[in-house]
Amino acid sequence: MGNASTGGRQRILSGMRPTGRLHLGNLVGALWNWRMLQDEYDCFFMIADYHALMSEYEAPADIAANTREVLIDFISCGLDPARSVIFRQSDVPEHAELHLILSCYTPISWLERNPTYKEQVQQLVTRDIHNYAFLGYPVLQTADIAIYKANLVPVGEDQLPHLELAREVVRRFNSLLGREALVEPQAKLTAAPRLLGIDRRKMSKSYGNQIDVADPPDAIRKKVMAMITDPLRIRLADPGHPEDCNVCQYYKVFDPAAHPDVADKCRNSKWGCTDCKRHLADVLVTFLAEPRAMRAELEAHPDRLRDILADGARRAQAAARQTLDEVRTLVGLGKM
Ligand code: ATP
Ligand code: MG
Repeated sequence: MGNASTGGRQRILSGMRPTGRLHLGNLVGALWNWRMLQDEYDCFFMIADYHALMSEYEAPADIAANTREVLIDFISCGLDPARSVIFRQSDVPEHAELHLILSCYTPISWLERNPTYKEQVQQLVTRDIHNYAFLGYPVLQTADIAIYKANLVPVGEDQLPHLELAREVVRRFNSLLGREALVEPQAKLTAAPRLLGIDRRKMSKSYGNQIDVADPPDAIRKKVMAMITDPLRIRLADPGHPEDCNVCQYYKVFDPAAHPDVADKCRNSKWGCTDCKRHLADVLVTFLAEPRAMRAELEAHPDRLRDILADGARRAQAAARQTLDEVRTLVGLGKM
């Protein structure tokens, strides 16, 4: 069920907050999937800088620099500005206006009961997120999706409550105004693997346990050599447990053809963890060579980056303006 403006294809919106360079977890869990979606869907990929500000407001100076880093990572990992609309959220301030309008239709209790919010307020100790904006984080997400009338949103399990809230807000808006003005988005669940960081916790910027897509070869080698392997294998002669070893899991993801052999060498003590890691470092260095080259190319041509964002903003804004104008009329703003 697409529409005329998308050439019959369904529309997808997804985004990432510019809080740092992207790591292998982001690549495996999101970007690989996004890259594939471009073949089949009308895609909008957003760098969500308003959303970054909600938690980074005390020291927001890095948001602009991180936007550039994320843009470079997007393009060097295969997002294609010719096929997809790649844009910065704040370049389309229509998002902020729709956010305000939709906030009128969002009961506070819906936000307060949001499990992700409750969890983050408890767990995020490095930032004070007891601000008004952070409570409304999912309302801005709703506006991000609704303003493009996106039908599908690629999400992991952990984002489902946010999407459910977006659907409820859209339903409430449409039902109170007696018109199917906004599109109720569906989740497009992705069964992406969860990549662990070098310390075996979930790879995450906030844990500092990540390998970045843009890490130079020597940094990759250093981080891989620091990876925790099978905790039960102490001496070379001890048989390994590849299914419990994070390093072996990396082979599964980044060099699946080699994985059976690696698992055999580990299980039957044919090589030690150091050999295994040294080889994995080579695999990752090779694997990231192409994005690294592309990054160097883009860094040498900042005008290309500016053009991509300017073009993305123009295309996004054309779609967003249309929805916002309809909504404004519907809610009695700006017309007499
Ligand atoms: P933060 O620490 O600020 O939460 P993060 O490193 O966890 O940052 P997010 O911005 O939360 O990254 O995530 C962006 C996208 O990458 C999301 O779609 C998320 O599901 C995916 N992602 C993040 N970390 C991983 C991981 N370790 N494995 C798989 N996917 C991941
Ligand atoms: Mg996260």
